[in-house]
Amino acid sequence: MLRSLKIFLFASLLSLLGTSCGGDENLADISMPNDSIPEVKVNMAYGLNLDSFIVKEGKIKKNQMLSHILLINHIPWPEIDRLVKKSKDIYDVRKLRSGKNYTVLCKKDSTEKAEYFIYEANAIDYVVFDLRDSMHVTIEQKDVIETRREVAGVITSSLYQTLIDIDCSAGLAMEMSEIYAWSIDFYRIQKGDRFKVIFTEKWVEDTRVGIGAIEACFFEHHKENFYAFPFEQDQVIDFFDENAKSLRKAFLKSPLKFGRISSSFTMRRYHPVQKRWKAHLGTDYAAPTGTPILAVGDGKVIEARYKKFNGNYVKIKHNGTYTTQYLHMSKFASGVRSGKFVRQGDIIGYVGSTGLATGPHVCFRFWKNGKQVNHRTQKLPASIPVKKELLPQFTANMDTLKFQLDEILFEIKAAAKLAQK
Ligand SMILES: [Zn+2]
Repeated sequence: MLRSLKIFLFASLLSLLGTSCGGDENLADISMPNDSIPEVKVNMAYGLNLDSFIVKEGKIKKNQMLSHILLINHIPWPEIDRLVKKSKDIYDVRKLRSGKNYTVLCKKDSTEKAEYFIYEANAIDYVVFDLRDSMHVTIEQKDVIETRREVAGVITSSLYQTLIDIDCSAGLAMEMSEIYAWSIDFYRIQKGDRFKVIFTEKWVEDTRVGIGAIEACFFEHHKENFYAFPFEQDQVIDFFDENAKSLRKAFLKSPLKFGRISSSFTMRRYHPVQKRWKAHLGTDYAAPTGTPILAVGDGKVIEARYKKFNGNYVKIKHNGTYTTQYLHMSKFASGVRSGKFVRQGDIIGYVGSTGLATGPHVCFRFWKNGKQVNHRTQKLPASIPVKKELLPQFTANMDTLKFQLDEILFEIKAAAKLAQK
């Protein structure tokens, strides 16, 4: 398309020069449509001028092999055999899959012999089998164009559906769930949560083939704002919030600001109340009744209730991997109930001795992938902020992107749709 436009412009320029030479009186004609200038359209594909061939396009049928296609296009067996051998180390012809596009380019003469067989392995890669005398096989790529997009969405049912509604690939949900793995549980996002993303999309001709880089992201979850900006340090690209803090959160070392460990995690201990040996799958921190207990990380409260042995306890799911639990509370902090989203360091309850306990303490339990582990021996992800010396660079980038994010408007349609429900 671009190419033919260029040729057309060039032709127009020639005609303009010609007219000028002929005399000034005809200048007015230049802007008039001129039938005598044919628009030269060059039909290019795969780096070849299709106009110089008989073009046969098709899709590989079930059980159809390369040889079938080549035979009917007048390539004799010995040549096919030679081609298959030549192709062996470049592209295994047995990998041709039904449903994939191919093109055969044949000689424009009485033989109609195939000169090229082109197989589209995927949206980007294609294999060119050059069938002429020496025979060549090459894997080539179509031009991938990246376009920048700014989108905003309000979740009315699921993130997936919202992305479809705003004509985005579902792959974007994967990207976002990774960026926010430590802050937002994407299995439990809510109606009314909203997001904005600035990112690039990869296109081959008219087909979207993937997502490029996420340049900036914003997510409003439970009315809390989460910004995310990618930044490279130590050769690693990580996401940071507007204060240059890593989105990858480390847990607090303990759920109490002050307190001493009165009993460690062990597979075997003598239970002071039950008077028998049993595993202790938690760490006890002793502290006076009423001492605030803190959430060790961002997450969602999945249980806040009383049970005979646990007493008053809170359980928090932090992400797909980690869950924590806090037992024997004297009482819950106000507003802490199942479904509540808490931030790291938030007070969730107060030390007590409800349930099976000899004195005031919090029994802290830690799950990794559904299994109780000793949090004090876990190798947990580091949470390193942007380094001081890189802060000016980070801030300059971030300021621009944050401004752009903030300028993006949520679609009124989506808001209205939500209000209806
Ligand atoms: Zn305990």
